[in-house]
Amino acid sequence: MTAADLRERVERLLAEHDPATTDRLDFLRARYDAGLAWVWFPEGLGGLGLARGDQGPVDALLAEAGAPGNHPERNGIGLGMAAPTILRFGTEEQKKRFLRPLWTGEEIWCQLFSEPGAGSDLAGLATRAVPDGDGWVVNGQKVWTSGAHNAQLAILVARTDPDAPKHRGLTYFLCDMTDPGVEVRPLRQITGEAEFNEVFLNDVRIPDSQRLGEVGQGWLVAAATLDNERVAIGGAAAPREAGMIGKVARTWRERPELRTTGVHQQLVESWVDAEVARVTGVRLRQKLAQGQPGPEGSAMKLVFAGLAQRLSGLELELLAEDGLRYSDWTMVRPDRVDFTGRDAGYRYLRAKGNSIEGGTSEILRNVIAERVLGLPGEHRVDKDVPWKEIPR
Ligand SMILES: Cc1cc2nc3c(=O)[nH]c(=O)nc-3n(C[C@H](O)[C@H](O)[C@H](O)COP(=O)(O)OP(=O)(O)OC[C@H]3O[C@@H](n4cnc5c(N)ncnc54)[C@H](O)[C@@H]3O)c2cc1C
Repeated sequence: MTAADLRERVERLLAEHDPATTDRLDFLRARYDAGLAWVWFPEGLGGLGLARGDQGPVDALLAEAGAPGNHPERNGIGLGMAAPTILRFGTEEQKKRFLRPLWTGEEIWCQLFSEPGAGSDLAGLATRAVPDGDGWVVNGQKVWTSGAHNAQLAILVARTDPDAPKHRGLTYFLCDMTDPGVEVRPLRQITGEAEFNEVFLNDVRIPDSQRLGEVGQGWLVAAATLDNERVAIGGAAAPREAGMIGKVARTWRERPELRTTGVHQQLVESWVDAEVARVTGVRLRQKLAQGQPGPEGSAMKLVFAGLAQRLSGLELELLAEDGLRYSDWTMVRPDRVDFTGRDAGYRYLRAKGNSIEGGTSEILRNVIAERVLGLPGEHRVDKDVPWKEIPR
């Protein structure tokens, strides 16, 4: 398909569904059906089988015409992690069933991976899925589940074979959060908000048709999700001076009375680092356009977390007592994850989570050491040991 054909397709969508008069959801559904949601996805699944780079011009034309967006900030886990995993490992029926409402935002997704005893050591998780007729019965507890209070669906990893070594006894499922037995309880975080939750799974029945990938292959599927997660958190497209550096630079420009030479030096160094991270992100996304993200995503996420913490700290230093004033502790269960929202105090506190969520910085350094630099792996005493025999 040529650039002109693609443009014509966008124009046809706009002519048949005038954004000024068409209901938002109807427009989004029509856009998906026209293959203009993710042009690099296959035909019939929101795409046209084109290159990832062809999406930019489509988005620009639609934005120019005032077309409604699908609010990606409300469904980051769905769009960033569930969709590429379903595309890669899902059956045709699963792709047809789940991708359209995921893209339009009619179904919000969350990620049921971490457990009280299994975060960094995710493969050690204990939530059990036991076969039962044409499905599975799941019991266990998950934790830190961002957005579970808004989610209709979840990606879930559970243990299906306790006799196998930890990485080999896992299976990946798509779990309906509205099913009986799924209990979501808010957890308040350092900002005072309850952005995440603990989730209890009590005899939750999942049909086998909602298993993603082979039984026992859950680690392989989860690893693909985690690679996408790091890119989604650390490698999101951003214009120059967006995000945390934009907030600090604006304060610097608007409040000359706060400036000192030392802070100026820190700001310039951080600005350069932020710009290096931004253009590295561009390169990462170009690489991504050619296939599955690799361990480079870990480096981006690591840099993103470090910068966010450094910059939000610098902003507080600039604002001194004004920055420390953080008075709104109202319990909110937000419907989006917002790293830079509200005030400087919020940004400082929220940035603390950046080096934990989506894999801690220590673990990402291990990934880089082993998978990028080829250094010897960590000593593992539980390799080839049946999971049930590992002390917990
Ligand atoms: C804001 C936020 C949102 C989150 N959202 C979700 C979500 O939606 N879904 C979900 O499933 N999870 C979510 N998480 C959970 C997150 O992925 C885990 O917290 C994370 O993987 C760390 O696991 P842990 O908390 O169990 O820490 P632990 O694994 O107990 O680690 C504790 C400390 O020990 C270090 N450590 C552990 N092992 C090693 C090692 N081998 N080498 C060096 N250091 C090590 C860690 O890096 C860390 O500093 C979220 C977390 C946060 C903070």
